Amino acid sequence: NTKIVKNGSFFNNGDILPTMGYNEGYELSDKNTRKKYDLPEKDRMPELTEGVTDLHMGNYIFNGQSDFINVETVISTSGNQTAIAPGSLINKWEENGRNYFHYKVDTPSLNFYSFMSADFKIKKRKWNGIDIEIYYDEKHPENVDMMLDAVERSLTYFTEHFGPYFHKQCRIIEFPRYASFAQAFPGTMPYSEAIGFVIDLEDETENNVVDAVIAHEMAHQYWAHQVIGAYMQGSTMLSEGFSEYSSLMTLKNITENPMKMREFLKYNHDRYLRGRSGERLKELPLYQVENQGYIHYGKGSVILYALQDYIGEDKVNTAMKGFLEEYRYKGPPYPSSHDFLRHLEPQVPDSLNYLIKDWFKEITLYDNRLKEATYKTLDNGKYEITMEIESSKIKSDSLGNETKVPINDWIDIGFFMDSDEEKLYQQQRLKFDKETSSITVQLDSLPVKAAIDPRHILIDRVFNDNIKSISQED
Ligand SMILES: [Zn+2]
Repeated sequence: NTKIVKNGSFFNNGDILPTMGYNEGYELSDKNTRKKYDLPEKDRMPELTEGVTDLHMGNYIFNGQSDFINVETVISTSGNQTAIAPGSLINKWEENGRNYFHYKVDTPSLNFYSFMSADFKIKKRKWNGIDIEIYYDEKHPENVDMMLDAVERSLTYFTEHFGPYFHKQCRIIEFPRYASFAQAFPGTMPYSEAIGFVIDLEDETENNVVDAVIAHEMAHQYWAHQVIGAYMQGSTMLSEGFSEYSSLMTLKNITENPMKMREFLKYNHDRYLRGRSGERLKELPLYQVENQGYIHYGKGSVILYALQDYIGEDKVNTAMKGFLEEYRYKGPPYPSSHDFLRHLEPQVPDSLNYLIKDWFKEITLYDNRLKEATYKTLDNGKYEITMEIESSKIKSDSLGNETKVPINDWIDIGFFMDSDEEKLYQQQRLKFDKETSSITVQLDSLPVKAAIDPRHILIDRVFNDNIKSISQED
């Protein structure tokens, strides 16, 4: 048991407090084990339904056992340690050689909070009335300033695009390497030393894992902690998908070379493609995801990122913000992915309406390929580039059976001025309406490479064949 340790205790309310009612989460879930005990087959998650039903009366984390609640804590710990519970610190005192703390949350929150205690150093920064606080082991100070920056950056982006942050403090609290994750509780973020405090980020010039993790967990202060989906398919898109998208957007904001984003997108692309190949039951479209990580993190973030590239960052964020404002800190009925799409649809122009069906409601993959790229020098000194492109669109059913469908989609082409693919040049978005196309473009400078979907925005079964060096025409 690592919940109570000498220096770095961390447990949450589920570990020490009773819950009310029947918890279906404790039922046997393994298909074969259920069979062995003659139990009927069980769905991974109830089906997504429209309108308001009984299922909308509980959210997917507590399924009817709890809504948003007030939390007030008096907690004591040994005389050399600081104990942390959610909310503002109302009072602290010493008694019989122990330290006592009294905390109270400033806004009703999810019934999901943690308690921690250790011998902490604390570094603080004030940002627009919010206390950003990092609680860390005094032997691990190296990345603390970077963490303060990352929290501030997230707060800046999220308050501008999604709305207010409702807690008066924002705490990152280090815990030892008995686990390696970070997790968002109301206003607090327990954070393993292994993925932030004791990793060497000295050579990282731009984004790094700490920025990405903090942005994702900070985003949960909105997506999950302010609005949470009903207990049915699609709900984890609204928390994990939205948080991973929000994380990508904060990274995009500080990334100097936009081509750098391709690395972050590739990570999530791979996560999706690898995950679907290992699926043992069934893959579902994004808006019906059944708590499947490869879909809600991997596909969800890529789809939402691509969508903001296609329709505009402000449009996607307006839809998310509108959805948030309708349901923020409200008890039942909880929303479903249909309710988000209701906010999204008015933001999507008619010409791109197909994206909602393709990307959210069905399983759609692209298979784009640049077969050849050649150039010739024109009399006026310009260069004429000819690209032979194959592009197909594929629909998959939940078991992975694939069918080609006619393509009629907007896809980028672009060029690179360097072989490292860092200098993107003359990107254009074209409509592809047949499987093979020959495209000719006149350019002032001669690039090194040509590409279809050069920034890897679309979910492409094989991305490596999208880019080719440009050779001189015979
Ligand atoms: Zn998450």
